[in-house]
Amino acid sequence: MKNNLPFEIVHLGALKCVTGSCHLIISNKLNIMIDCGLAQGESDCIPIKDWPVSPDKIDYLFVTHAHIDHIGRIPELINAGFSGEILCSHPTKELLIPMLEDAMIFSNYSDKEKNQLIQTIDDLSWGFENNISFNLKNGFSFKLGIAGHILGSSFIHFKKSNSSVVFSGDIGSINTPILKDPDICEPCDYLVLESTYGDRNHDDRTNRIQRLADILSKCIADKGKIFIPAFSLGRTQELIYELDVIFSETKFQKKYPELNQNIPVFVDSPLGIKITSIYSKLKDFWDMESQKKLACFDHPIDFDKLYSVSKYYEHIRLLDMKGPAIIIAGSGMCTGGRIIDHLKEGLLSSKNDVFFVGYQAKNTVGRDIIRYSKRKNGYVIINEKKIPLKAKIHKLSGYSAHADQNGLIDWVLKMKEKPGIIQLVHGEEKAQNILKEKFLNLGINVN
Ligand SMILES: [Zn+2]
Repeated sequence: MKNNLPFEIVHLGALKCVTGSCHLIISNKLNIMIDCGLAQGESDCIPIKDWPVSPDKIDYLFVTHAHIDHIGRIPELINAGFSGEILCSHPTKELLIPMLEDAMIFSNYSDKEKNQLIQTIDDLSWGFENNISFNLKNGFSFKLGIAGHILGSSFIHFKKSNSSVVFSGDIGSINTPILKDPDICEPCDYLVLESTYGDRNHDDRTNRIQRLADILSKCIADKGKIFIPAFSLGRTQELIYELDVIFSETKFQKKYPELNQNIPVFVDSPLGIKITSIYSKLKDFWDMESQKKLACFDHPIDFDKLYSVSKYYEHIRLLDMKGPAIIIAGSGMCTGGRIIDHLKEGLLSSKNDVFFVGYQAKNTVGRDIIRYSKRKNGYVIINEKKIPLKAKIHKLSGYSAHADQNGLIDWVLKMKEKPGIIQLVHGEEKAQNILKEKFLNLGINVN
């Protein structure tokens, strides 16, 4: 897209959908890529051969955060000739390799190729501090700010001469467990802003633990299993944090005696377990509340009844286990992973419950389950098999890792000056149109 900036900005993914983030700054003798994510569900991504710049001509790849829809194509990028630097925050640097290793498990790469790719990505990537300006080549500089979406998530402020552009990455909500709130962004001429929830606001987040406890206590009464499909990175740790609060604080124990019966919580996800242990090590990047808990000897993402299910045979055993039990497993949108095995059996019993605590993109099993559970005799197709939806399906919207409409608008309004123009990305068309209208009414230009 042409603009008044001394560089061109091209969106190679997630322009009108929520996955496959990939953007490019094309400047005289310098090309900067921002995210290189995998598309999921109905989202589309442009094949590398059709990019305006070949991967060997890209000087820098900036990574806003380590979710697969922002990093999943990095191995493909490397194979296609990219040999520039990969820049991100320190926590993102820690999370990048385990996330990509996991993403490559079912790829066509041989073990040797996988190891080489991982080694190359590790060699090329660097962690940077937030809110410090660093120089790049050709007069560009950049500064990372905390985006509050997952640990290490950043928005990136680029500057060249008197022009500036910000890529929001994914912006989180305020008061998210473990995470610091998003930083205030410095003014910019051009803002590339995510718009996942541009058309709606979340339920009140302050009561969401209460709602989780409330619904858990009801679901546990019939001694079934409660399945929570969750992203291994971010949502899993947030859920562990809140379950720890529910199981340890006296006010919850008094109000919900049903929850005092030693209900085990299983994290059935090798990646979720690995990421939780990385989160545990990155204490310096936690918010104040979590640091205070730790100082009082309450580890915020660990508790007695929490069990890790890492090995495959343990997963098989868990499938046969009777409830009550809470099972957190990936993937978050039920597009694969161990949650699929649980759902194939678990959806068949009315004693069981499924809690959705995150965004479900179009054309994913998660979205279908929510949609068809509202119909009489609803069913869902999993691995080409028709599964009747007998389990109870719940959607807890206050759990999104993305800022809602008000959150996005507030984040922009907190800037000292309005951005010159906003380009909405990372959202479905309906959400973008509604958010665009809101910004226009506030006198803010939107493309
Ligand atoms: Zn994300």
